[in-house]
Amino acid sequence: MKHIKLDDWLLYIEDELAEDTRKVYEEHLSVCDHCFKAYLQAIDKTNLQEEIPGSNFTEDIVQYVEEQAGFSQGFKSNTKKKSLIHYAIAASMTALFMFTGLFTELIEIPSYVKKEIANEEKHSFTDKLLEKRMEVRKNVNQKEGEQ
Ligand SMILES: [Zn+2]
Repeated sequence: MKHIKLDDWLLYIEDELAEDTRKVYEEHLSVCDHCFKAYLQAIDKTNLQEEIPGSNFTEDIVQYVEEQAGFSQGFKSNTKKKSLIHYAIAASMTALFMFTGLFTELIEIPSYVKKEIANEEKHSFTDKLLEKRMEVRKNVNQKEGEQ
């Protein structure tokens, strides 16, 4: 499938896409790092456009959480709330992606690496996994660059 343009991600964030298109985008997002980055950029862009002088991101999150919990009434802007929700979605997707990535590597780790891990007590198993993961990511990025 073709990559999705930054402008299209903006439409997605603004909730201006047809239901079918949204689904296609969401599915693509879960498998494509390239578009995930574009999606994050689009969220950032949306946030910049709505930047209110004197406000900061942390305050907004606190306010958003308070509002959700019913502590405070009203929010500066509806779109701002939308971009916060997208930040939350992006964060959870990143966590999910990292988890599935690690999970795959647990299965795919070659036996010589396992032996290496067993022999090296100074490095934790997690360190090794992270190292390995970074190697895999590098390869994936290179492949994507070739496309
Ligand atoms: Zn893509």
